[in-house]
Amino acid sequence: MSFNKPKIVILGAGYAGLTTTRRLLQKLSPEQAEIILVNKHNYHYESTWLHEVAAGTINPNQARVMISDVINPTKVRLVFDAVKRIDKDEQRVILENSELEYDYLVVALGFESNDFGIKGMAEHAFAIEDIETSRLISEHIEYQFAKYQSGEEVDEHSLNILVGGAGFTGIEFVGELAERIPQLCKKYDIDRSKVRIINVEAAPSILPMFDKELVAYAKKSLEDRGVEIKIGAPISECTPEGFIVGEDKELIKAGTIVWTGGVKGSSVLGESGFELVKGKVNVNSDLRMPEEENIFVMGDCSWVWNKEEDRPYPPTAQLAMQEADVVAKNLVALLNNEPLTDFVFESKGTVASLGLSDGIGSIFNDYKLKGKAAAAMKKVVDNRSLFLIGGPKLVLKKGKFRPF
Ligand code: FAD
Ligand code: NAD
Repeated sequence: MSFNKPKIVILGAGYAGLTTTRRLLQKLSPEQAEIILVNKHNYHYESTWLHEVAAGTINPNQARVMISDVINPTKVRLVFDAVKRIDKDEQRVILENSELEYDYLVVALGFESNDFGIKGMAEHAFAIEDIETSRLISEHIEYQFAKYQSGEEVDEHSLNILVGGAGFTGIEFVGELAERIPQLCKKYDIDRSKVRIINVEAAPSILPMFDKELVAYAKKSLEDRGVEIKIGAPISECTPEGFIVGEDKELIKAGTIVWTGGVKGSSVLGESGFELVKGKVNVNSDLRMPEEENIFVMGDCSWVWNKEEDRPYPPTAQLAMQEADVVAKNLVALLNNEPLTDFVFESKGTVASLGLSDGIGSIFNDYKLKGKAAAAMKKVVDNRSLFLIGGPKLVLKKGKFRPF
């Protein structure tokens, strides 16, 4: 450790990193430690709203929050740069434009799309990863509409939108598309029947984490609004024209191809030579990297073991924000040579939106919600997340209050 104040470096200003920084500010005085927050951009974004940005149902700026609006830059050193690699032997972080030394490190660099090496996916499909990749999808969809109507010669499938994977992200995205496509059809004078929204899933069901009744409700709601759902249909390849699906290698064609088939932790973990299990670090119950006294790995970069169910907790914003409380507490304990606390997850339930005014959910010990009640609950969850990041002012500025 250096002779000056200990340096705590936090990598990533998503739910995990930003919340950890805010908690540390509440617990530490500026004399106790120097806190440095590193993020690629000068803004935080609500990752949980990215499917709406990708469909074009919200403006990208609504999902962005300037970091200096929620973190006092006189108390935390803000570094806006991309992390390339972590050298844990030298206790250094290598950024695109500089380097940083640390005494304590928090790795909270979030998720990247995981295409599981499916041929052509990285080259030909869009992915919902951040504000820019999501904005690109909505712009591309609208471009297809404008091109179709311009009289330019286009492929008959150009208006089709193909979505690979019907987990949470895929289903929430097609739910938004079911809202957006009728608006685009109106704007460009195109008959709705000319546009297909096709969601392809390998498993025998969509959203396997919900019970059968809620899944059936979600499927019917989406199909009634023109979404085609193909289950039991593994995608084996992506070509410039579309997905190759199922045993008979059917080619489903579309002008917009989006992969929502899964996520993994930031590629910085691998670049840094960390030991990974399915793309993430398996952390100890105090959220530290095994055999590392001073490195915490959190949010979508780590797996935290759920002892009751003997499997890791699914990576969610809810989990990331709860982890932040324990990481901040444990950093203070390390500074004070006190014992560390184990992380215990308290699930508040799960809600999936199916567009602006529909959804399904299971909250507080399995109380089931569907329809407008679930959609309203989703907005409460979204506004709560803003509240935790920036207090009531941020909720008033960016919150979701649109009637439905
Ligand atoms: P992130 O939120 O991804 O934040 C990572 C941060 O690190 C970002 O600011 C990023 O810019 C920055 N960063 C990344 N790489 C670098 C780099 N190399 N250098 C510098 N900075 C970098 N979970 C729920 O609980 N409820 C939901 O309703 C929900 N909805 C979702 C909807 C969608 C469309 C998606 C994709 C996910 C959803 N999730 C939801 C999951 C949730 O978004 C993630 O689990 C959560 O974002 C993880 O938080 P995090 O802080 O680990 O990472
Ligand atoms: P996921 O792993 O949950 O779902 C991916 C889906 O793609 C799965 O259903 C899988 O069977 C399917 N798939 C994978 N390979 C395929 C193939 N070759 N062909 C066809 N289908 C294939 O990933 P996600 O939806 O991106 O979610 C990532 C994480 O974010 C999850 O932990 C989820 O809990 C969280 N999330 C939560 C919410 C919410 O709480 N409302 C919303 C979005 C994401």
